[in-house]
Amino acid sequence: MKLQGKKALVTGAAGGIGAAVVRALRAEGAAVAVADREVAGIEAEAHLPGNLLDPAYADGLAAAAHRALGGLDIVINNAGVITRGKVDETSDADWDLSVGVNVEAPFRICRAAIPLLPPGSAIVNVASCWGLRPGPGHAVYCMTKAAIASLTQCMGMDHAGSGIRINAVAPNEVNTPMLRTGFAKRGFDPDTAVAELGKTVPLGRIADPEDIADVILFLASDAARYICGAVIEVNGGKPVK
Ligand code: NAD
Repeated sequence: MKLQGKKALVTGAAGGIGAAVVRALRAEGAAVAVADREVAGIEAEAHLPGNLLDPAYADGLAAAAHRALGGLDIVINNAGVITRGKVDETSDADWDLSVGVNVEAPFRICRAAIPLLPPGSAIVNVASCWGLRPGPGHAVYCMTKAAIASLTQCMGMDHAGSGIRINAVAPNEVNTPMLRTGFAKRGFDPDTAVAELGKTVPLGRIADPEDIADVILFLASDAARYICGAVIEVNGGKPVK
């Protein structure tokens, strides 16, 4: 029980990686406040539904988790959306959605959480390999993930002195609704596409949500006490070229 007595907030808790993070945190003894648009039915110590595009909700989330749990030690900014297309295929709505959920919301949550977090606490943001080296046809998504990776590095430096470690994970492909609905929209059978994609990964398969959740848990725990401002790639040996 590495996280006994710790109190954690997880955004995107209803999604693939988020649900795995919630299970992993609770299995290690943490009390967890779950945030997503719909959180009914998720096993957790506090439920904080809402839309991260609402600035008041994002601004208030850390304090709400702190109130509900009686403290806050860990914040996992995991919620994300993927918009596809080159710049000339990207609508204003795509821009607002991607920047709003992937960059502005974690910025607002971190800004509000930092004054509440005690020494020895941790924030983990979920970036992407595509934020480190972009792939084709997803210009704004890649940009938002580069932005959150950079913001993590900046915050990691700026708040280390307060005893708050701020890091990010950068997954490559993960078998979650985000990836699977993308295949389905493009007319591919998700199971076949996931199996085919797995053949391109040196470890022989794409990631399961638990593969990412375990690294997030490590970064949130005292085992990562000297890691700060890092963006850790979790890619099965397949870096984006
Ligand atoms: P997912 O779609 O399964 O989960 C994302 C969750 O975020 C959903 O539950 C969704 O409801 C929530 N969310 C989105 N917009 C929201 C809003 N406006 N308000 C509140 N909640 C909102 O996706 P996932 O694959 O589990 O993604 C988790 C994170 O991992 C994301 O940041 C994503 O960019 C990142 N990531 C995923 C992959 C992948 O291949 N799946 C690869 C690299 C990075």
